[in-house]
Amino acid sequence: MAPPLLYRPVQIWEHGKPPVPHDGIYEFGTITAFPGEVSVIEQDLSLAVAYCRLIAPWMQLVTASEIERDGKRKRGVCVYAGNVIFLSLYPTAHELLVTTWHECWHAVEAKLPPSTIEEIESCLGPFYFEGRDYWGLAQERRARLFQGYASMRHDGAPPITGSRLYEIFEAAWLGDLAREIVAEEERVRRLLDEEWGDVAA
Ligand SMILES: [Zn+2]
Repeated sequence: MAPPLLYRPVQIWEHGKPPVPHDGIYEFGTITAFPGEVSVIEQDLSLAVAYCRLIAPWMQLVTASEIERDGKRKRGVCVYAGNVIFLSLYPTAHELLVTTWHECWHAVEAKLPPSTIEEIESCLGPFYFEGRDYWGLAQERRARLFQGYASMRHDGAPPITGSRLYEIFEAAWLGDLAREIVAEEERVRRLLDEEWGDVAA
């Protein structure tokens, strides 16, 4: 017998606050989030939310039964402008976590200096896919590699050492990169305040 279903509104998760249900369909640019029924067994979001808050805490989460971008169904979307990760509750609990790690990596990577991206790429072999769709994009390959690393760590494997790629992934996995990113942004904000605070007042 199929497991029972449960109605879930679109929910907006701001850091450190309980989720706020959104009444009806939620639209954000070209993204549409639909309320609807999800599996009772698969609807536990606590781990996905906890990982997002550890790995990319500046991101707001929006969860919904279904997510569409330009009319196409998506498991997850990372929107840099506005710092929002959209997660669909349609997949299984494991797929939900994998999508969370994937989107969190996009969010982290968007804040890394180009030199760090180059360091990652220098650890990877050549890569070619016909065309320039999803599978052929270097940033999607990096997000898939991180989701694989996170999946491995989540399943209890020890960190991989001896490679700069895995050092960077491990720092992201532990939340160390997030702490560095947040500290650096605060430092810059303080500097700007000191410089321009009088003008803005
Ligand atoms: Zn992606």
